Amino acid sequence: MTQVIMVGASTTPPPPGQGIPLAPGVVLGVSGAVQISAPDPTAPTPNPTFEAHNLRPLVEAIFRTDPRFVGLSKFIVNVRIFWSFEIPTACAGHGFIFFNPDFWDSIPEETRKTVLAHEVWHLILKHLQRGEGCDPSIHNEACDHVINLSLEKDGFTFEGTSPFKDPIHLGKSTEKIYNEIWEDREKNPPKPQPGASKEQIEQMIKDILGQDAASGGPSKTLQQQKDEAEANVDENAQGIGSTPGQANIKLDRTKKLVLIQRATYQQIFEEYLTDPLSGGKRTFMRPSRRSHGQGPTKLITPGRFPKRGRKNRLTHLVYALDVSGSITAKQAQQFHDSVRTIKDLLNPELLTVLLFDTRIVFEKTFTDKEKYGNINVHAGGGTDLKDVYKRMRVLGAEAMVIFTDLCVQIPPQPEWETIWIVPSMGCHVPVGLYGNVYLIPQL
Ligand SMILES: [Zn+2]
Repeated sequence: MTQVIMVGASTTPPPPGQGIPLAPGVVLGVSGAVQISAPDPTAPTPNPTFEAHNLRPLVEAIFRTDPRFVGLSKFIVNVRIFWSFEIPTACAGHGFIFFNPDFWDSIPEETRKTVLAHEVWHLILKHLQRGEGCDPSIHNEACDHVINLSLEKDGFTFEGTSPFKDPIHLGKSTEKIYNEIWEDREKNPPKPQPGASKEQIEQMIKDILGQDAASGGPSKTLQQQKDEAEANVDENAQGIGSTPGQANIKLDRTKKLVLIQRATYQQIFEEYLTDPLSGGKRTFMRPSRRSHGQGPTKLITPGRFPKRGRKNRLTHLVYALDVSGSITAKQAQQFHDSVRTIKDLLNPELLTVLLFDTRIVFEKTFTDKEKYGNINVHAGGGTDLKDVYKRMRVLGAEAMVIFTDLCVQIPPQPEWETIWIVPSMGCHVPVGLYGNVYLIPQL
């Protein structure tokens, strides 16, 4: 196979309108770059990632003329586009889009617009940030289904590619799709993808920022780049989705993804852990923070787990169990095990157990001297958290754990900390739910 190396594109942008067709309908190739069919062994290794100066005017023309991109011209001005042989197809994050030139040249022209729109949507939806802590390939697959199903409705073509675009996911949120793929991953393992990882994308961006600074350009950290990219989305991509022709792209950019996390009790309650032997000083080893899908480790999403430092030992914790009709004997047992484990681990001065369906059906408070036990769980009728929240205000506890399948109206965010524990990864998590949601830990 002939090896093709692109050279010169990063340093010699062709003048606009020359070498690059600007009008829609003509080939959007990497034609501005010189193609050499055999590498010169004495030549320095060409940089595998270089700014796509030759693509830029074309992209801006598309954004000006194609109604499906209307409203985003200001946004795209602040996005940097690169060719890269380091990635197999295309990827985006933190205000950067990367295309593999061979991939780009291999797909039909109309599909190139689709790929461009696809990557732009990853940026607008802040997927790289929002997926932090998730299993990366499952998160990416979920995002791709959402984006591609929307793009297809808007008339984009996928000819020449094999995208994630299963109509079974039509109308679902990213987090719902994520949870379904996660739940199903043993029967139906996620397909290995040629995509770039978050780490790889961030490393490429760091390299570029480093090169900018080395060549006398602005000196920026990755964090500054992330902040600027986020501001660009917030300032210049708000109108998108409201223009005719984009009727189907109405994806919520602001709501955070709420995913069911897997963690141990130690990890869930890390900030409340105290070691009595050290006189209240916290000496617990920090749990390893690998991602979802690599064993029972905690999923940490910056922003969802605010950096507020560790707290003191809990004085009062409330643990509420949803005993509505759907609770099983196994779940009742899981609840008892869960309360006992949390009591052993944290031993708050007071631990109140509430059982609720449409109202509180049982309440008992244990002091730090008492042992947990003697509670019978009977399944009740419907579910309502109103009474539980009302009671919480009277009890004045700092935190509440709620064991529920989440098939309940969620009251507005209260003043105490909420920790949701669910019996299965298949539970539907309402978008934008406050607090962290955990699968009931295995003991
Ligand atoms: Zn994608």
